[in-house]
Amino acid sequence: MTLLDSNYDIALYVHIPFCRSKCIYCDFFSFVPPSVNEGIIETTIISILEELEYNLAMLPSVTIKTLYIGGGTPSLLSGKTLESLLRGIDLSLRRHNTEVSGLSEYTIEANPESVTRDFLEICSDHGVTRISIGFQSMSDRLLDILKRPGCCRDNFKSLELLESSWTGKKSGDLLSGIPTQKTDELIESISVLIENDFKHISLYTLTVEDDTELCQMVKNGSIEMPKAEEEEKMWFSGKNFLENNGLMNYEISNFAIPGYESLHNLAYWKMEPYLGIGPSAVSTMPASGDTDKRVDSSNIILRMTHSNDLVKYCRGRENNWGITTESIQAREFLLENLMMGLRLRDGIEKSLFRKRFGIDLFDILPMTDEFSDDPYYYRLEGDSRFMLEKILLSIQRYTEPLSSEQIHIQWPRDTDRGK
Ligand code: SF4
Repeated sequence: MTLLDSNYDIALYVHIPFCRSKCIYCDFFSFVPPSVNEGIIETTIISILEELEYNLAMLPSVTIKTLYIGGGTPSLLSGKTLESLLRGIDLSLRRHNTEVSGLSEYTIEANPESVTRDFLEICSDHGVTRISIGFQSMSDRLLDILKRPGCCRDNFKSLELLESSWTGKKSGDLLSGIPTQKTDELIESISVLIENDFKHISLYTLTVEDDTELCQMVKNGSIEMPKAEEEEKMWFSGKNFLENNGLMNYEISNFAIPGYESLHNLAYWKMEPYLGIGPSAVSTMPASGDTDKRVDSSNIILRMTHSNDLVKYCRGRENNWGITTESIQAREFLLENLMMGLRLRDGIEKSLFRKRFGIDLFDILPMTDEFSDDPYYYRLEGDSRFMLEKILLSIQRYTEPLSSEQIHIQWPRDTDRGK
């Protein structure tokens, strides 16, 4: 089975798996010193560029719409390594007849303490259009609790640098529900970003993930998470403040002035094909079938997951970059589409859903009060989006009797939109 070879748009993600230290709540895949040094970082970047080149050569007809370099902490790379990464990506895209300047969006993630004038200049020179910075809070006390690598002074220094040396878009991440956090502190953090002209802000609730230091601390009683009602109240105060300042809550945790939404993340939420490069990255792509045509692949979606093993990854093609591939059943894919799409304020475009699955959602499940009565979108009413998990459980029950054969998957091309 090969990957798609048709004329599709894809979102391209590159994962840089290195951080300066581990924050207590983080379950993203990243290496921190002493298990990482400049040599390991350089070897990984070489492998990432080889993997990108190989994949783009295998996918001659796809169009890359958005590119997102995330992590980890991409801004941690030295100037020389960042330069080789961005130049390498540039060259690969060109060999694929794509200019970086032709992308709809090119984002890189950064942490405040590693934002430097050099970093911003290199990003600008290579066509990056959007910087996404993980501030999390503007309070040193809260940053200390989270064991963030930087402090409040770093936050303000990075804001000054952005002001003087960055003309592209900028997005900031903040956390609510940090132990001992007060609503005033959250509002103060949001205000700082708004005053500094951030038109995109992500407001996540701190959650306790398995296998994190925070999880251990909660279990052994050395930290106490806020009560659910308090935490909810705080998050909604943040939401109201953001909305009163013109940032629309376009996805459960994401707010933007209209026109400043993250196009790359919208592609994930709409379950457009996406290609992930780098250790632990994941791809979801339609298959194009066996070259000898023995397999009808029109109904097959492939999910490819890289292992977290850096040694396997750096062995490169000989070890297929440590990738395992599975095909996703149609019903599972349909549920994933609902789970992601209903997070969006706009919901899921009905005509695209029909094209993708060959059915109408309300043919398989009853219209309930949670759904808005919209002729063009499957959309959850008002605050129902924040109860998505509960709603999905009932959707799951209704779709249980559906066999995968009853659902036809066809990933519409972008040009099919609105027809
Ligand atoms: S800097 Fe970001 S990716 Fe790195 S450990 Fe902290 S939260 Fe995780």
